[in-house]
Amino acid sequence: MAKADFEVPVLKQYPEIPEIEPGVMAHASPFKSKEEFQAQLGFPGELVDNWQEKAIAKMGDLLGRYRSLRVYLDACVKCGSCTDKCHYYLGTHDPKNMPVGRQDLMRKVYRRYFTLAGKYFPNLVGAEDFTEEVLNDWYSYFHQCSQCRRCSVFCPYGIDTAEISMAAREIMDHIGVGQKYCNEIIGKVYKIGNNLGLPGPALADTLEGLEEDVLDETGVEVKYPLDQEGVDILLVTPSADFFAEPHVDGLIGYGKVFHEAGVSWTLSSYASEAANFGMFIGSYENMRRVALRIREAAIKLGVKRIVFGECGHAWRVAYSFLNTLAGPWDFLDPRYPVPQHICEFTYDLMQRGKLKLDKSQNDDMVLTYHDSCNVARASRMGDRPGGQFDIPRAIIRAACNHFYDMDEDTIRDRTFCCGGGGGLLTDDLMEVRVKGAQPRVEALNNLIHEKGVTHMAAICAICKSQFTKVLPYYGMDMDQIVSVHQLVSNALVLTGQVTDEDEEEAADEAA
Ligand code: SF4
Ligand code: SF4
Repeated sequence: MAKADFEVPVLKQYPEIPEIEPGVMAHASPFKSKEEFQAQLGFPGELVDNWQEKAIAKMGDLLGRYRSLRVYLDACVKCGSCTDKCHYYLGTHDPKNMPVGRQDLMRKVYRRYFTLAGKYFPNLVGAEDFTEEVLNDWYSYFHQCSQCRRCSVFCPYGIDTAEISMAAREIMDHIGVGQKYCNEIIGKVYKIGNNLGLPGPALADTLEGLEEDVLDETGVEVKYPLDQEGVDILLVTPSADFFAEPHVDGLIGYGKVFHEAGVSWTLSSYASEAANFGMFIGSYENMRRVALRIREAAIKLGVKRIVFGECGHAWRVAYSFLNTLAGPWDFLDPRYPVPQHICEFTYDLMQRGKLKLDKSQNDDMVLTYHDSCNVARASRMGDRPGGQFDIPRAIIRAACNHFYDMDEDTIRDRTFCCGGGGGLLTDDLMEVRVKGAQPRVEALNNLIHEKGVTHMAAICAICKSQFTKVLPYYGMDMDQIVSVHQLVSNALVLTGQVTDEDEEEAADEAA
């Protein structure tokens, strides 16, 4: 079991709504971004002198730009329906991690400066000056929200705390209070092309290694091309897929699927990142700059289609915003969706009987599936409502013999966040991450005991990284989390592949 310098929640069989413990998480905030990382995103390097004035002006700008923000701040009736729906509240017990408590951190400032009642009778309407103390609370608690949108599913008015968190982070960046983890990473994308700062030659080496591994394993020459012009498909995938476990096993699977489909494809060293942390910091300008790299790569390489690999928030940006951010995509083949998810691609082949899958290759695992929040609540897949839930499950069932779903209150649109999304996947927030993972791990733990589940599959790079890190805090193994396309990869029988059965037959004949 991983050691923690904080109390790791005890897993329970039934969900319990905890007693509130005001202020217990006030100390938990991420490292602040240094001047060098702020500057490359166009933000001041440190807290500006007239920060209050600038913050209020920026809030006014956002209220004018996003009608939804004003509606969310005005509409709450304090019904309490959201209070026990956030994994960070359930795991930390801090009432400022209740969605309505988090919203109120901005609402009280909004009321003070943007409503008549708040200007003249602040105490009557819960309005407060934007003081340094309030700013500190903003920095802590708006970085304890993974922007997962679970609360919005249960709010009768659909109030989306994720958007409020994004706006708060955008305001803080504009006064020089940025978060190191996100802002440093966005700078790496601008300089090198991906979150991890992997240069083109390192990518080429990795891909060559994968080709050798697949050849050794299957006897089939599957290609993992980089920067190839004139091919059909540009694959945009999270850079974690290039080296992290279990991500890379998913990438191996995408390559095998493309090979079997007989399509030509490539990765791009310039757009070697599907993730778009511009969304986490609420910055339209930075989100656009990151997204435009995909457009530029697609034009330069002359591809006809764009397919996204397994990444939750990247799919949200791609599905919901890509056209606005970097469209029009009229230079691509109109017969295919723009963009397309790798799960849609694989599912389509399965439907047409183009993939031969040997489920028994995954018989060493009993699986469940974690719906990643950005896929579940901020996007769709395929041409039917609910495709984002059904398609990944259909793929898993086609590739495995043993699959069970977790409790229905914790899956599909009610899924619990892994605890590391929204720009929180950093070691300086480990306490928040471990505690925030509690509701998801609890549901997994129950299924382990009830059905003998051994592994949980996911289609999000952040979920995979988060679970490999936090499962050991709960006494589980880091390799209990797997990629969906890792399961496909295990089960897929490539044309011309020598299988175990073939080898046994050959041995029998020789004998
Ligand atoms: S968006 Fe998710 S993390 Fe943020 S308050 Fe709502 S439930 Fe909590
Ligand atoms: S559920 Fe909606 S209206 Fe009710 S307290 Fe929460 S945010 Fe306010």
